[in-house]
Amino acid sequence: MDFSENEETQGLRQLLRRFLDKEVNPEMIARWDREDCIPREMLKRIAELGVCGLTVPEKYGGLGRDVLGMVATIEELARRSTVLAGIYIMNACYGSLNIAESGTDEQKQRLLPSLATGDLLFAYGLSEPDVGSDLASVKTGAERRGETVIINGYKRWCSGAEMSDYIYMLVRSGEPQARYKNLSIVLVPPTSRGITLQTVGTMGMRGIPTNDVILDDVEVPFANVIGGEAGWNRGWSLLAGPTLEAEKLEVPALAVGIAEAAVAEAWEYSQQRKQFGGRICAIQSIRHMLADVQTKLAACRLMLTHAAWKVHTAQPSAVETSMAKLFVCDTAREIVLTCQQVLGAYGYAHGFAMERYVRDVLVMPIFGGSSAIQKNNIANLMRLPRE
Ligand SMILES: Cc1cc2nc3c(=O)[nH]c(=O)nc-3n(C[C@H](O)[C@H](O)[C@H](O)COP(=O)(O)OP(=O)(O)OC[C@H]3O[C@@H](n4cnc5c(N)ncnc54)[C@H](O)[C@@H]3O)c2cc1C
Repeated sequence: MDFSENEETQGLRQLLRRFLDKEVNPEMIARWDREDCIPREMLKRIAELGVCGLTVPEKYGGLGRDVLGMVATIEELARRSTVLAGIYIMNACYGSLNIAESGTDEQKQRLLPSLATGDLLFAYGLSEPDVGSDLASVKTGAERRGETVIINGYKRWCSGAEMSDYIYMLVRSGEPQARYKNLSIVLVPPTSRGITLQTVGTMGMRGIPTNDVILDDVEVPFANVIGGEAGWNRGWSLLAGPTLEAEKLEVPALAVGIAEAAVAEAWEYSQQRKQFGGRICAIQSIRHMLADVQTKLAACRLMLTHAAWKVHTAQPSAVETSMAKLFVCDTAREIVLTCQQVLGAYGYAHGFAMERYVRDVLVMPIFGGSSAIQKNNIANLMRLPRE
């Protein structure tokens, strides 16, 4: 067995680290967090490194599907800024992975070249005020009228809708009783007539504002229905299709990035901070905390890499991706909270990155399919009898 990373991914990490060291400083990151706004041009800057092409087929101007590269990019960006990684996900995953997998030929030609160059940003419009984990119960309704679709309803937690070009929106396109059968996915420009956007403040992931999207007779062309005629009323199978496995890795990759940054900071701090006449790294309880977080981080990296390799090589991976989402996100939260303890009061104060790592990591087990939902998935996929 060879656990080493391939040369391309190693090179990609070095490229990203050089870029981040040169172009992204702590003041910028603190400002994005404080103002709940990351400039859209940052996507264009990271696209110049070629990373937005990692989820776009070569035929459409990308580098071909490279899930290992995609995961490494999210992790490296998140080590510096979770929301910088977030806008990459909005482009490369919400946009390119989905369009490449489920778009019509026309949609691929229209959207993928601009996604590969970082010129398009997608937001996800799945959740609603009364719809969280149980996505098949969405109520936002879409009615077909010839070559247009009219949408009415309410979407919640739509991260970055206000800065996006399209909301990748899950809608009810038929009778609610049919549950999984009458759902469709429609690309809705947030600037469409009839849309009102409101911001819901969150404690972490600040920089990509979380929007409520209220839709009142919003009209979009039928050409924006993902998969076209074949996709109408097949939204659930598109959502739960092969792209889902790659998508389940986005949040654990973010979590590993945050945990790595927190561990590096606590490790360094323990060697600078002196109490009782010596460096705190010499105190056994601090040494044990740091040994614990390094061990947990190594386990997280292995879980994530193994799942990513399975998805990358197109092997069945539903169990591994759910396990990675569950284990890495829960463990990253433990890691970061331990690192915060090492910094004492400085881990709780504004102006220190640790406080932001804590706020950001807390949401990792909540969104992208909560930890409880992943446990359900794992037990079901491994065919544990229900009675
Ligand atoms: C910062 C942030 C950004 C977000 N961005 C987006 C976005 O861009 N687009 C989008 O569509 N959504 C987004 N969301 C919403 C997110 O995906 C949901 O929070 C998530 O799906 C969980 O839904 P819920 O919070 O409504 O919890 P609920 O589904 O109401 O669950 C509440 C609790 O019950 C548990 N639970 C629910 N059902 C079960 C079950 N069957 N078995 C066991 N336990 C269960 C959950 O684990 C949780 O602990 C975002 C949320 C946040 C906080």
